[in-house]
Amino acid sequence: ASKVIGLTGGIGSGKTTVAKFIEECGFPVYYSDDRAKEIVNDNDDLKQKIKELLGEEAYDKDDLYDRKFVAEKVFNNKELLHQLNEIIHPAVRIDFEDWVKKQTKYLVFKETALLFELKLNLQCYKSILVTAEDNIRIKRVMDRDGKTYREVQAIMEKQMPEKDKIKLADCIIYNNTNLEDLKHQTEKIIFDIE
Ligand code: ATP
Repeated sequence: ASKVIGLTGGIGSGKTTVAKFIEECGFPVYYSDDRAKEIVNDNDDLKQKIKELLGEEAYDKDDLYDRKFVAEKVFNNKELLHQLNEIIHPAVRIDFEDWVKKQTKYLVFKETALLFELKLNLQCYKSILVTAEDNIRIKRVMDRDGKTYREVQAIMEKQMPEKDKIKLADCIIYNNTNLEDLKHQTEKIIFDIE
């Protein structure tokens, strides 16, 4: 069986960029967030549960997940958001387990923003945290998404503090400089995993 390496980082840390470097090295990466967006449409059992929780309107006339409707419905309703996550997260977990079974490489990577929050690191052989200084992360997301400084900062403040993640991670990539350095650190870490 493949060893699973968890890959995480807060907003704008560079975890997706690192994941792409890992793929360039020939290792498969499972993108949890992207898969979550797919399975809300592909997994009938999950769809049914979401409709029971949020109503039929959670899906549009083409029976596609209505992200805007759901966002508005759970906005300011922590309990409902929690219940929705309690449905989606286990479905992603199962989807990941199915995916892993099909892999043939000795190492596979699971990219997720919530590795430590959901204690998914406990099911991984090792965890990698991508981190960078707050100001650098904010600037990168402003450039990438056109968000304001305050908007990015507000998202960041809701995430698990960096110091807590640093304590939990097995390997840490400091992404404060350029992409060449980031790639170099990534390669060093993955080829050192035994
Ligand atoms: P999110 O959680 O918001 O999706 P992320 O952790 O996946 O963020 P990336 O999308 O990989 O972060 O990186 C954020 C932005 O910063 C991207 O536009 C990326 O191209 C850029 N970036 C990442 N690392 C560097 C770097 N070392 N030098 C320059 N730009 C970088």
